[in-house]
Amino acid sequence: MSRSRPFFEADGIVLELLPGMNLIDVVARLRLEDYRASLERLVGEHGAREHPQAARDLAEVRAAIERINQGAYGMCERCGGAIGSQRLLALPTAHFCIACASVTRSADL
Ligand SMILES: [Zn+2]
Repeated sequence: MSRSRPFFEADGIVLELLPGMNLIDVVARLRLEDYRASLERLVGEHGAREHPQAARDLAEVRAAIERINQGAYGMCERCGGAIGSQRLLALPTAHFCIACASVTRSADL
């Protein structure tokens, strides 16, 4: 007997639950999708030239969603360790764990 793949739905967003996806991924994905929709509206209406920061944020949000799809979300790009869930909840587009972020001084942390 075949079963449909599990999914999660909230606020009109339907997420397929992929193997290995944890609760942080799901929560982050919902927030990122919501943020992406807002940014796409803003940039779409006024253009990236008018809102360069929104255009950069949109690229970051799309990249973070892609990391979730690739199963690489929440892994520090510098040391390969896990980015803490508190940090991901506070900053869903984070590239680095808190220890690496404090030494890289990256513009987007
Ligand atoms: Zn790190």
